[in-house]
Amino acid sequence: MSSTKKLSKNWRITENVIFVFAFGFIMYSLISTYGLYVYDSIKGKGYIGAIIDPILSHQYYLSIVSVIIILNSTCVLWEMVLFIIHLSKQESGNMHWFDRYKFIFKKVLVNYKPSFLALLIYQLLPKLILLHMFWIWLPHVQRFALFTVNLKWYSWIYAYLCWELSTWVFHFTSHRVRLLWCFHSPHHAPSELNMTVNWVHFIAEVYYSTFIHLIVCIVLGVNPLMFIAIMGIDSAWGTFVHISERALKNGHMGILQYLIITPAHHRVHHAKNPLYVDTNFASVLPFWDWIFGTLQPLKEEVKVDYGITRDLDVTNFSDLYFGELLLLWRDIKNAEGIKNKVLYVVKPPGWTPAGVTETASALRQDFLKTNPALSVTSRNRFLTAIRSGLKMDKLEDGDAFVYISKQE
Ligand SMILES: [Zn+2]
Ligand SMILES: [Zn+2]
Repeated sequence: MSSTKKLSKNWRITENVIFVFAFGFIMYSLISTYGLYVYDSIKGKGYIGAIIDPILSHQYYLSIVSVIIILNSTCVLWEMVLFIIHLSKQESGNMHWFDRYKFIFKKVLVNYKPSFLALLIYQLLPKLILLHMFWIWLPHVQRFALFTVNLKWYSWIYAYLCWELSTWVFHFTSHRVRLLWCFHSPHHAPSELNMTVNWVHFIAEVYYSTFIHLIVCIVLGVNPLMFIAIMGIDSAWGTFVHISERALKNGHMGILQYLIITPAHHRVHHAKNPLYVDTNFASVLPFWDWIFGTLQPLKEEVKVDYGITRDLDVTNFSDLYFGELLLLWRDIKNAEGIKNKVLYVVKPPGWTPAGVTETASALRQDFLKTNPALSVTSRNRFLTAIRSGLKMDKLEDGDAFVYISKQE
């Protein structure tokens, strides 16, 4: 794929200065809020209050959401401390002090510049958009609700499946429609994963994803209270699955990998290897990926290569954030005829009027021609079993929904 222009030196320095201020400001807010809540917990308020109070009023789901959010912010701070210790003690151990600080700064830029600058933009704008969506749009969408479920425990399972369906729809289209990929690609650009990568989202994507979630969930009967609680859990787990390999080397998480999306699943989703591209769209439950055939287990023999396929310096934030939009604009401008211009917007990334050989699914299919076994999951075995009279072999790892077959 082609690339956008390199940054001028002055603009790069400006970006880095904004990043240093954003880093200081966001870290100060994070640590002071966290510290304040921990301090208040001693008096039975703060984090302790956020867990205990909902239990007393029998709103157990709020208590669970609080626990998950507390664990989440603890993990983000712990991962950052671990990152600095690793860099200063192991990876830059024998360097001269000046080279050492230069090395650490470069590593901080690679790992945290995309997330802190994206969060800065997010802090400035989309909160207004989200408020607008919730307070203005919700009543309109509710008029089309088929029904609204109660808050019983089984309704939560139904609501979660609806939420995950909307996530799959939003995420799949974000990868398969070029314009939406322009909004989603900043999230995939980082060349290393850490939990703050979950902050890297283009502002328009926040708008689009909330719109899809609202439409699918509310129309299918999800209670708005559940919607907000599930959004909290989703965001916390969504942050955790980006945990770095420094902090959690083996991301399979044992038996849990059969029930929920683990860091190993999401590392696959962030990979640009032909085997892994455009797979594992789910956020918490692998159910819909299994159903739609987009579940791909992490394979030891194919080491994950993070990032996007075009040539990109991840410390060039302008290119990371706007580069795909610029490239789309160039393709539209150079395309012949209205039909091709429109197709560039709605077809998958890599599509050209000459064909689809450069799209992610074409590259994956090409790769699988010589390595078909690497993509096999229990779904393939299940379908094969149905076709051949319910006969199945042993199941592959990374699958949640295991069909226990009758052996002939
Ligand atoms: Zn994605
Ligand atoms: Zn991600």
